[in-house]
Formats: sequence, C-alpha cells, structure tokens
Amino acid sequence: MIETTCRSCGATDLSAIVSLGEMPLANSYLRPEDAEKAEPRFPLHLVRCRACELVQITCTVPPDVLFRDYLYLSSYSTTMLQHAEKLVARLVSERTLGAHSLAVEVASNDGYLLQYYAKAGVPVLGIEPARNVAEIARSKGVRTVEEFFDASLAERLRGEGHRANVIHANNVLAHVANLNGFVEGFRVLLADAGVVVSESPYLGDFLRKVEFDTIYHEHLCYYSLTALVHLFRRHGLEIEDCEHLPIHGGSLRIFARHASVARPTARVTECLANEQRWGVSTDAPYAQFAAGIHRITQDLTGLVRDLRAKGKRVAGYGAAAKATVMLNACGLGKDDLEFVCDQNPLKQGRVMPGAHIPIVSPDQLAASGVDYCVLFVWNIADEVRARQAAFTARGGTFIVPVPTVEVVS
Ligand code: ZN
Repeated sequence: MIETTCRSCGATDLSAIVSLGEMPLANSYLRPEDAEKAEPRFPLHLVRCRACELVQITCTVPPDVLFRDYLYLSSYSTTMLQHAEKLVARLVSERTLGAHSLAVEVASNDGYLLQYYAKAGVPVLGIEPARNVAEIARSKGVRTVEEFFDASLAERLRGEGHRANVIHANNVLAHVANLNGFVEGFRVLLADAGVVVSESPYLGDFLRKVEFDTIYHEHLCYYSLTALVHLFRRHGLEIEDCEHLPIHGGSLRIFARHASVARPTARVTECLANEQRWGVSTDAPYAQFAAGIHRITQDLTGLVRDLRAKGKRVAGYGAAAKATVMLNACGLGKDDLEFVCDQNPLKQGRVMPGAHIPIVSPDQLAASGVDYCVLFVWNIADEVRARQAAFTARGGTFIVPVPTVEVVS
C-alpha cells in the first residue's frame, strides 16, 4: 500500500527525498531452496512532510507479512545489553521504582531490557507481537503479551488495572504504521506521574552520516525532535527532556510525560533550535543526503569489483537489514561476496534477501582465508573488529561503507 498523506499529521504536502527502487524485504532471509523462486519486492521511496517535518517512506507492507518469521534477537548484541542495563539502573534509582511500580516495554523483543527491571524487583509487562521472540522472553521470566500495541490494547490493559510508571519504546516508533493509535496508547497506559522513554535513530545523524542503509520497509519513519514534538502533543504528551546517544549510528532518547505535569528542559529548546539551524525544514540537507547515497553505492560497487578483478576474495559481516539494503542498492551478489557472517544461529544457513549470498557463522571469517570483509553492521564496528582479531591478524582487511567507503587497515 502506498501512502499519499503524512503518517503523523495527515497532510498531503509530501516532498520526495530519494528512491531506492523496488527492494526485497530486508529481514526476509531465505532458505537456500527458496532462492530461485520469485521474491516479493516493494517500492522504497523516502519523503518529507512539509507540514510536520516527518521523514517517512510511502510504502506500507502489512505487519503480518513483515514480521512473519522474525529472526532478530536483541540479546545477541553485547553493546545493546549494556545500554539497556545502564538505563534501567538509572530509572529505578531516579524514580524510586520498586515492587509497587510497573515497567512496560512496547516491542519488548526477547526481554533484553525488562529482565533488568525484573532483577531489581520491579514488576514488568512486555508487549511483543512476534511469537518466537515472545516465547524466549517468557522463558526468562519476563511476562509478555503477544499482541501489537495500540490504543485499544492500552485501554484493555488499563481496564485490567495496569498503569505504567515507565513505558519504554526503543526503536519501535519507526516501525509503527498506526502512529497516532500507538502514541495515544502511551497516553492511556501511562500513570499520572509516569514517563515514556523512547529511543529512535536520529534524523540528524541519519542525514549527516548518510545512513541510507537503515531505510527499509520495516522502518517507516525517521525522526527529528521537531517531528516528535508534533506527534506527542497531538496526544496530550509533552517531551520534557532529550538526550543524544551514540548508539545505532546516533539516536535520540526522549522523555515524555502528560502535558499537565511536564516541565521541558533547556535541552529540548536547544535541540529544536539546532534542528532549525541545520535546516530540518528546508530541502538542502535532504538533497545532500541523496547525493551521498549515490556516491557510496558507486564507490562500494567499484571497490568490490576492482578487488574481485585482482583475484581477491571478499565476504561481508553482519546479515542485518542494513546489509540487505546496501547489497541491493549496490547491485552486489554472490559473485561479488562469498558469504556474509552473522552471530545469530537462526540466520546461519539462510541466504541474503535479493542478493542470495549465503549466511554463515562468524568463525568462518578467519578460517575461510578471504582477503576483505565489508562491515555492514557499522553500528557495532568496534565490537566486531575486537571479536574478529584473528581475521585481521592473518592479513584480512575490513571495508566500512558509511559515511564514506573506507578500507580500514
Ligand atoms: Zn506531517
């Protein structure tokens, strides 16, 4: 389905930023025997709403198609676990949470965050529609409702006596087709003095660092604080504080409360003013971004094909959605890269969407004798390079594709 109005404010004045053409679903890792069958592709056009500044894609793939066979487990990234543990410790202490409180996480995944509340003695409720992942959470003792979050689920939970002192929503606002129903759900479920803590990849970093490989069908929206303020205000919530985080290529963490009790800090005003300065409401930064994408895809394809022509062997690291986008935007396939390694055992043995490159265990990287490795998961580049010291020790070289294609020796 192609949207013709803004996902947040409903305006029709959508300005085109870039098109990545027809793309396979980025997380739809195929079984090798299915690779020869026709693979569904959907258009990927990025636009900006001139009324509320929300950057968004126009195509909505139904959630039951997108999340049918979801293979991403948060707990596989050490960086993310440490990040979650630190945030929980801080909120438990600052807001004196305990046995009387309730911590909710929307899109709670395998319980990677709520497990730390449970350990601190704070009752938890996870909301996670992906069945295989929700089961893993429950096995860790994280109570999990297996549904999509929206205002009606929030009403039902509230009717059952639940009011949340904290609602976490990490890296989920970008995925929500019914954006207004979702944020309305926060208002309904949030206790009078409660706080919504939400992290999303930040538009400022996305543009500046040309993180175009994070554009895929699951990722409907790309948030500036300007766009978030419009969205939350529409539902009686005010963003009280914000923090810029270095994770996922640059994220914005916001703290929102009921408008009647919220007291916005100077950080919120400063961030909004800064967005005006870099031109969040003008065409210029978006045009620069589109030019950057063109440069990266040309450079990476040129480099890999040059290396192959010289007889070098090339592989990739990280069978993440961003790898699918990068490979397909560049037109790279199994003649270019021998394999892509990934730590997630659920992905090993499958092939990359569109590119059909086999996915193998990270042990293969050093063992295989490949010369170069494209590090698709630049968000955890340090972690990967530390773990793959054996690959570089025997002469292997990493290539990092964004913000510019670099050979890292
Ligand atoms: Zn809008």
